[in-house]
Amino acid sequence: MTNYPHLLAPLDLGFTTLKNRVLMGSMHTGLEETKDWARVAEFYAARARGGVALMVTGGIGPNLEGSVLPGAAMMTTDKDVENHTVITKAVHEAGGKIAMQILHAGRYAYSPKCVAPSPVKSPISPFPPTALDEEGIEKQISDIVTAAALAQKAGYDGVEVMGSEGYFLNQFLVTHTNKREDRWGGSYENRMRLPVEVVRRIREAVGENFIIIYRLSMIDLVPNGSTHDEVVQLAKAVEAAGATIINTGIGWHEARVPTIATSVPRRAFAWVTKKLMGQVNIPLITSNRINMPDVAEDVLAEGCADMVSMARPLLADADFVAKAAADKVDHIAPCIGCNQACLDHTFGGKLTSCLVNPRACHETELQITPTETVKTVGVVGAGPAGLSAALTAAERGHKVTIFDRSDRVGGQLNMARQVPGKEEFHGLVDWFETRVNDSTITLKLNTEAGVDDLKHFDEVIIATGVVPRDPGIPGQDRANVLTYIDVLRDKAEVGQKVAVIGAGGIGFDVSEYLVTGDSPTLDLPEWMKEWGVADPAEVRGGLAESGPQPEAPTRQITLMQRKAKALGKGLGKTTGWIHRAALKMKNVEMIGGVNYERIDDDGLHISFGEARENPRVIDCDTVVLCSGQISERTLADALEEEGVACHVIGGADVAAELDAKRAINQGTRLAVAL
Ligand code: NAP
Ligand code: SF4
Repeated sequence: MTNYPHLLAPLDLGFTTLKNRVLMGSMHTGLEETKDWARVAEFYAARARGGVALMVTGGIGPNLEGSVLPGAAMMTTDKDVENHTVITKAVHEAGGKIAMQILHAGRYAYSPKCVAPSPVKSPISPFPPTALDEEGIEKQISDIVTAAALAQKAGYDGVEVMGSEGYFLNQFLVTHTNKREDRWGGSYENRMRLPVEVVRRIREAVGENFIIIYRLSMIDLVPNGSTHDEVVQLAKAVEAAGATIINTGIGWHEARVPTIATSVPRRAFAWVTKKLMGQVNIPLITSNRINMPDVAEDVLAEGCADMVSMARPLLADADFVAKAAADKVDHIAPCIGCNQACLDHTFGGKLTSCLVNPRACHETELQITPTETVKTVGVVGAGPAGLSAALTAAERGHKVTIFDRSDRVGGQLNMARQVPGKEEFHGLVDWFETRVNDSTITLKLNTEAGVDDLKHFDEVIIATGVVPRDPGIPGQDRANVLTYIDVLRDKAEVGQKVAVIGAGGIGFDVSEYLVTGDSPTLDLPEWMKEWGVADPAEVRGGLAESGPQPEAPTRQITLMQRKAKALGKGLGKTTGWIHRAALKMKNVEMIGGVNYERIDDDGLHISFGEARENPRVIDCDTVVLCSGQISERTLADALEEEGVACHVIGGADVAAELDAKRAINQGTRLAVAL
């Protein structure tokens, strides 16, 4: 008897059966663009072996003008068919099914050649699109249909037609982007003509026994977006046109509401799909922030959908489904919704990977194989770097001992998990703990390791992390001046008016911690109110007329940095705007270009510019120092002095731009090479 009867139940599509209810949603990994087809194939085959019923590839362009950017993968030629056959063959041999996503980006295409229903430039692209004429529209339909037919020829089990997230087909649906007055614009019947025609023509081309998933934007989260009635009308029309399954799209890319970040509550949008249940006769898939089997099971058991789409959780753990089926859920590497190695990489033009799983998209290159020479390995520091090194070394068969002076594993992750909106970090620490407990590792907590404890190991790994940087501000020794560690770890008492010195990731985190009462991430109605999300049955696009209505801030915060540029520029590419918006909503004052003069009874004295002018006193009861970190290398230096060789990793190696992504990757790769 499984704990996940709904999740693991097969789904009969008539002409074929899916073995469970897990769809791996489409991700732009950049793998297809490497043209290393064996590598792409292994990425998908690993997930098929891990039990996913149906996967969707990254978005594949049907033509140049519709591709997300020049050089993006397309399906237009027999050579493309040959290449993609490598993928489909590998997936089928692994017992999985795979559909190719056809993505026409419309005005979101990063190219001067981009096309759209009307010449309305997107706020997230520098290129104004060219409006299509009748002939141009026919060419787009025909190219999309050709891509579907070629996908079928390449052995795919189906295609997903990308009709959401504000891409081309979505752009025809709403008056926000469709200003046409011909048969493709005006009334809703006219505006939905293109998506419906695309599905009808694909079905005509591919025959009955081929999956067509239509990804439908069920809540646009942009002004003048679709209403729920229009969503129902489109869903019915798409079903009639021949779609096999409807998948849920949430929010356009230009929406100013977070939809997948870690601070979005789990299953935050399952209710949106549920509104469509019973309105059509084909299966519905729900999506967004479903990251663990129990969440997926509940969503299905409550009748929100027939299937769940998970994308990033399958980057984090290729064996997600197999582990759920084997009741080893504690062993699933949890996707923490950070975007740091997936979407941030995509938008930075880098190949995707995963913070918790550096093997994601590197399956053929980073392999963890049994060692031929078993060594003793001493690791100091049980933060993400040390744990990753230790666990990988132990997995390879080495005899590993970890020392940490704290009473639990996790290092700085234990501070991150205190921050409202970062609750997923709890799961990450728990996962590390479970794996250590289940391994052959000897764990010595509450233990300060010295040179004598380490010199007899064959390999010594120093992952002692960082210590706070001393900003050297006159008056910082006063009792009301705290470090971020005092606040986040030791829960020191903090006043009502707070000056935060340093606006890096930690300055933002501390501000969010101090300004937020109960975490809206754990309270969906509150989170929806905070970001202005409403029912699309009541208001177009699902944007509340009243706008965002956050809870009042619990403290008055002033956040500062010395750099003159806007605060938060160095935060995650795809999540920085959320942190900035969240603090702005809580009236946090953000000041750049400051000099810190002194702290005294009046508060924090600052000035501006080289001439140290425009003096100002920040009235505050508490000052919190978040002025960055430096490597803790005391032990590494002592070992070196004694002639004991060691590997230094994580923050102890490089404190600048220290983050868990680099720490885990570095620890894993070191252990693979031992
Ligand atoms: P950080 O990002 O390097 O930021 C340090 C801050 O301190 C900057 O605002 C810097 O701005 C200021 N600063 C530097 N030297 C200073 C000095 N001598 N006196 C006063 N201010 C000084 O470091 P962090 O905030 O400690 O974060 C550490 C790392 O943890 C981050 O790099 C990040 O990778 C990770 N982290 C990430 C997140 C996230 O949201 N992704 C959250 C938490 C932590 P000025 O030099 O302009 O004053
Ligand atoms: Fe999830 Fe972060 Fe990994 Fe992306 S990088 S898959 S968000 S854990």
